[in-house]
Amino acid sequence: MTGTDYHCPQCGAELRGGRRTSGTGAGGSPVCPYDGLASADLRAGHDAIYFGAWRRIDAPPIEIRRAYHKIRRHLDAIRAALAGLDLPAAGRDLDHADDAYLAADPREESRDALRFMDNALSYAHRALDDLLHEQGLPPHQPMDFSEWYDAVEVPFRDEW
Ligand SMILES: [Zn+2]
Repeated sequence: MTGTDYHCPQCGAELRGGRRTSGTGAGGSPVCPYDGLASADLRAGHDAIYFGAWRRIDAPPIEIRRAYHKIRRHLDAIRAALAGLDLPAAGRDLDHADDAYLAADPREESRDALRFMDNALSYAHRALDDLLHEQGLPPHQPMDFSEWYDAVEVPFRDEW
């Protein structure tokens, strides 16, 4: 991330500095699209990885390693959010995410590392949706927030 990125003080979302401020003239911080939503920090954490540069076709190794560490922090955040809740399905999905994460270590130079990282993120998303479902809420839809990221024009590794 660069110094121009803005971190929402409410949920920690990494929002592109100036992406929405130009034209508003408010002179303030960008409005965070996650604020007011349940599990805003987990949604933001997911999407920062989901729309991250590591999923670009031409992602450099440093972006992949950076994403790997972000996934670790994201899984830990979900684990913390689930603590004390009786949500066995979410716990299982998170366990699957952990397994995929451990298999994904990019230091191993494995061609499968990216696929395992993607799997880890997918299971993390499921765990988040389990958490939302428990509260009677619909699943988190990353594409609802895509315009806040620099990902739109970028070809993704969507084919595995
Ligand atoms: Zn926020």
